[in-house]
Amino acid sequence: MQKLGNVLIHVMQDLSKISTNGQARISVNTNICDPETFRSMFAYFTQGTILEHLDLEVESMQPTAQCACGYEESIEGDHDGYIRCPDCGKYANIEDDSYSIHSPDPEKAGLRKSRTF
Ligand SMILES: [Zn+2]
Repeated sequence: MQKLGNVLIHVMQDLSKISTNGQARISVNTNICDPETFRSMFAYFTQGTILEHLDLEVESMQPTAQCACGYEESIEGDHDGYIRCPDCGKYANIEDDSYSIHSPDPEKAGLRKSRTF
């Protein structure tokens, strides 16, 4: 798990590279920060940068256990990176990304060409 400062820097780096059209929607791991706090920190740290006027929508994201059998469960708090699946008894990985950018899709968005687009 990354620290909040690192996550902020990564989100800023990611969003400043791609074409955003002035808007973006991301999720931040609830164990790192709540959406409101992240939004206000983002606004603070992007002052004077090309991301200053970006309309950022922040959602919260929970670590999720995903088993090969299809079982899924949200995980709260600390964990070992896996759980024993209650359905099939195998070990299921816990996906615990620090953040995720939903829109614009970093895979599809073009590279940024101007301050806003
Ligand atoms: Zn299972």
